[in-house]
Amino acid sequence: MTVYTPEEIEYLDRQALEALQLLRLKRVITQALATPFYKERLGGVGIKHPEDLKSLDDLKKIPFTTKDDLRDTYPYGLLAVDKKEVVRMHASSGTTGKPTVIYYGRDDLDRWTGLTYRSLKACGCDSEDVFQNMMTYGLFTGGLGLHYGAEELGMFVIPSSGGNTRRQFMLMKDFETTVVHATPSYMLHLYSQMENMGIELSDLKLEKALIGAEPHSEDLRRKIETLFGIDAYNSYGLSEMNGPSVAFECVEKSGMHLWEDAYCIEILDRDSMEPLEDGEIGELVLTNLIRHASPILRYRTKDLTRIIPGSCACGRTSRRIDRITGRTDDMLIINGVNVFPSQIEEVVMKVPEAGNNYRIVVRKKGTLDVLIVELEIGPEILSDDTRDLYALKGRLVDALKASISIKPVVELHEPGQLPVQEGKAIRVVDERGNLY
Ligand code: ADP
Ligand code: ZN
Repeated sequence: MTVYTPEEIEYLDRQALEALQLLRLKRVITQALATPFYKERLGGVGIKHPEDLKSLDDLKKIPFTTKDDLRDTYPYGLLAVDKKEVVRMHASSGTTGKPTVIYYGRDDLDRWTGLTYRSLKACGCDSEDVFQNMMTYGLFTGGLGLHYGAEELGMFVIPSSGGNTRRQFMLMKDFETTVVHATPSYMLHLYSQMENMGIELSDLKLEKALIGAEPHSEDLRRKIETLFGIDAYNSYGLSEMNGPSVAFECVEKSGMHLWEDAYCIEILDRDSMEPLEDGEIGELVLTNLIRHASPILRYRTKDLTRIIPGSCACGRTSRRIDRITGRTDDMLIINGVNVFPSQIEEVVMKVPEAGNNYRIVVRKKGTLDVLIVELEIGPEILSDDTRDLYALKGRLVDALKASISIKPVVELHEPGQLPVQEGKAIRVVDERGNLY
């Protein structure tokens, strides 16, 4: 078995890359077979042993894994190692309040760090850089995800986490931050607050922003670059596939290299789920080849993208995906946080005072997203004390915040005030415009 250096892996020719993928896939299948869930799924298509997989093409036999599968097996159904081997978990939000949880063993974390290290290097970061990581540290993978790769690269890491714009500016100024990691919407928010907070561009030493966790257009990237006079690089990831550094732009800014030694890519027709040609837009389906504690095979990301045909001028051989152009489900991404409308409905419908109609509106306020939940209430409560209305609003805000991790604005309406559709109700109004 050939052992490659981390640098060699980035430049393997297709044949060597695929041989490595197959080897790693078999290892991951061994892990998957240790879980009752995959044992049954794989057994159903005749895979009872890793050697039953003869080629990468056999991957296509394996049924897809969905977010619902992860939720249904919560908390430990997809754990493939002894619990004592787990050193960390992360989680992403879900429709029913139950998160989807991912576990990492020591080696899994090291392999992930290898990817984040590589991604930071690909977009030109090095040990001279001061890296301020403005993604939230916690169950969300955005914060801790890039942290260890940045340390490995020798960057000066400021784990400032999300929010607290005034403090972010103070740190940026005092420690001469050269690279930030944030959502694109937070970058715009930072810019909008500069004048207000007495910060001038010349106070900052910023050179790069790594932007991800939410969809954004090429125009928005350019805008961030022009406003700050920096380079912005797109970063794609999802907790089911570890988190950030599934795909990352290199200095060429011509699409994101999806690290194929660590993930098998499929782009499938969103209706027939048949494979598409390079260049055609479809659903991205990913298989993690490097995580042994939580193996996930053929995960339906619901993200729409395409493989960019041809090779990259940087010479790295992992194929590139284009920026995400949308999703096949109704998941909203609000300031980087995933929210399903059904989570909101569940909370709203539990309130006894709720009337018959509600609507979810997402709009931009300044540069950030605001979530507004409009709810009709029953006639009884309207005639009551206004203090009751305030209390109801407060209860709803708290319950929604607990469920979706975002503080919404709640607006209460008299019966019949919200628009009614003749056909299917339009519950979600996304006024943020064409993000893609
Ligand atoms: P993350 O921590 O990366 O936000 P989650 O699992 O919470 O991970 O959410 C993953 C989803 O976020 C992806 O499936 C995708 O819809 C969205 N996302 C992440 N990065 C990007 C990006 N660079 N561009 C567009 N959408 C993204
Ligand atoms: Zn490249």
